[in-house]
Amino acid sequence: MVLPRFEVIVPSSLREALDVLEKYGREARLLAGGTELLVLLRDRRIPVPKYIVSLRKLRKELSYVKEENGWIRIGALTSIWDLNQSILGKDLRYAGFTDVFHKFGTISIRFMATIGGNIASSTPYSDYLTLLLVYDARVRLISTSGERIVALEDFVLDKRELDIKPGELIAEILFKKPGSSCSSSFIKFDRRELMIAGVVTSAAFMCLDENNVITDVKISFDMVKAKHIPRRARRTEAFLLNREFSEEALNEAIEKVLPSEMERRSDWWTTAEYRLEMSKVVLKRNLLRIYERLKRRTP
Ligand SMILES: Cc1cc2nc3c(=O)[nH]c(=O)nc-3n(C[C@H](O)[C@H](O)[C@H](O)COP(=O)(O)OP(=O)(O)OC[C@H]3O[C@@H](n4cnc5c(N)ncnc54)[C@H](O)[C@@H]3O)c2cc1C
Repeated sequence: MVLPRFEVIVPSSLREALDVLEKYGREARLLAGGTELLVLLRDRRIPVPKYIVSLRKLRKELSYVKEENGWIRIGALTSIWDLNQSILGKDLRYAGFTDVFHKFGTISIRFMATIGGNIASSTPYSDYLTLLLVYDARVRLISTSGERIVALEDFVLDKRELDIKPGELIAEILFKKPGSSCSSSFIKFDRRELMIAGVVTSAAFMCLDENNVITDVKISFDMVKAKHIPRRARRTEAFLLNREFSEEALNEAIEKVLPSEMERRSDWWTTAEYRLEMSKVVLKRNLLRIYERLKRRTP
């Protein structure tokens, strides 16, 4: 299959890109790494836009990972490779980022794909979306008329559906810097784990105090309720919060609480029952892995 015809515009600055977006509105579609968009266009799975606005010349402006005033700020055009070269690939607090990196596509995809593109793709297999939910991340959107910050969970409405207005682009993803007694973990479970939507994908974030009491916990899955997008398992989080970390607490959480808030679907890949069973296993493994990371003090 070949790509359909469209006009490509390559702005040289962020300002110019915003002007182009304002001018063409819904007729224009942004192109970052192209690893999702070009595949969808090639396979005729989305309507063909009149203009493709390539962000390639904006990498200098929108590719960074910064720690500022207690916040981690990630430029939307930061590649998956560069994320792993940053503090996010080195510090125990962000261990889940390294987990995602190692399961993400191929080496060449990691060089091209961007974190902004991953979020904007908004699918159950957008791995950084699943991970960033457990960091309570927000998204900074900009347009010629200003900027706004939206919670990631509110920004992603449904599969390939975002709370984004014509003329806006994602400039940055940000989240509060976690404390030193916190870490995260991400697991993509499947027979084949690379380049594939796993049977179950899940991330967890947890903080423990000196008595092993869980002082913060966040859990996300590729899907929790009927909607086909990553979501938090809030009932399970509430059950675990302020409990002492123990095998019994984990078993109760996965056997009694998680199934009460999780709906899984059957498809040609596997059954809903198997997905639910594996969701329990993956949640337990994620939390145990964080526990071990915090005890060893290494990612
Ligand atoms: C072989 C292969 C393997 C893959 N493996 C994985 C994997 O393991 N895990 C995973 O999560 N994904 C995977 N993907 C999917 C894809 O690579 C990722 O979702 C990637 O992060 C998309 O980023 P991109 O920069 O290439 O986005 P693009 O393809 O350029 O854009 C994707 C969407 O985001 C929009 N967009 C891009 N940037 C912005 C912005 N700044 N503001 C607003 N909208 C924007 C575009 O308009 C488009 O709708 C894989 C893809 C391929 C082809």
